[in-house]
Amino acid sequence: MVRDTNPATLRAVSDPSTESPRAGRVTILGRPNVGKSTLLNALVGQTLAIATPRPGTTRSNLLGVHMRKDPPTQIAFVDTPGVGRAQTALHRVLVEQAEASVADVDAVVLLLSAPDCRGADLPPADQGAFALAMSTGRPIVLALNKVDRVKDKEQLLPLLDTVGKRPEFSAIVPISATKGTNLDALVSELRNFLPEGLAYDEDFLTDRPERYFVRELVREAAIRHTREEVPYGVAVLLDEYSTTGDRTHIEATVVVEKESHKKIVVGAGGSMIRTIGTEARKAIETFVGRKVVLKLWVKVVEGWTEDPRKVRELALGENE
Ligand code: GDP
Repeated sequence: MVRDTNPATLRAVSDPSTESPRAGRVTILGRPNVGKSTLLNALVGQTLAIATPRPGTTRSNLLGVHMRKDPPTQIAFVDTPGVGRAQTALHRVLVEQAEASVADVDAVVLLLSAPDCRGADLPPADQGAFALAMSTGRPIVLALNKVDRVKDKEQLLPLLDTVGKRPEFSAIVPISATKGTNLDALVSELRNFLPEGLAYDEDFLTDRPERYFVRELVREAAIRHTREEVPYGVAVLLDEYSTTGDRTHIEATVVVEKESHKKIVVGAGGSMIRTIGTEARKAIETFVGRKVVLKLWVKVVEGWTEDPRKVRELALGENE
């Protein structure tokens, strides 16, 4: 459950640990598909960010708070859209979002995909994210993700040896976000850069309202069932969101950018949109902890990913 609370609330420490409490903000930067959303979910202990095998799924910055008691630590992690080449208005807005995420951070996690690290330097595809991390002027912890997929761990030695010595990086930690490997080590490294004190109520989880997650869960279901260029142009708008008794009524429109995409999303005799609806409803019920009645429509907004105004409205939900 998502609870609103005042992030500025300072709490007394009940933990008898001798180490002083620390809290701060850390942004997770990396190119698309390195595992940023998966890492945020693993650190927060709940699925907040939709993580799919399709690159470019994350559209706006999402904050999730990692809390631990021993030693008392609160880290507000910000998952960002991947930093890659900006070809369309949608891409440009995604890069802007990642750039905005670095304001006021205490440290940065630069996430790489370990299976792609074969030499002694950062792979060329990660240079954009590295440049953004450097622009913050904050300590950078390099996390090599997906180590579970690296059979021959010696493959990583040249990178660990050379990059580990570079002054730009405060630490380098091999991790697996899906298996949870070494996440404690990553948090311990980041803790060193946080100011003293606690910043969040104990049940604070995220800065987003429930409606945001509902839209994202419908979008995730639509992405999972479509391929090629269809997922990139999917957006979701909530038309109705109300709770009576123990039931939440939701009406949402799945927006696509071409008539041909609409045919795919609707499917033969409406079969696909029914499948998407059933999957999304179950995910939303788990998330909100109530019964859900979900109605979905599909609408074409021709070429919306090329129009900056429509991108803000549809991808960031700015008019909601
Ligand atoms: P993002 O675009 O950087 O946010 O990447 P996602 O979190 O959406 O992850 C992209 C894909 O990589 C998904 O299919 C994840 O399941 C997968 N993935 C993420 N972390 C790991 C990991 O530690 N190990 C493996 N094997 N796969 C991972």
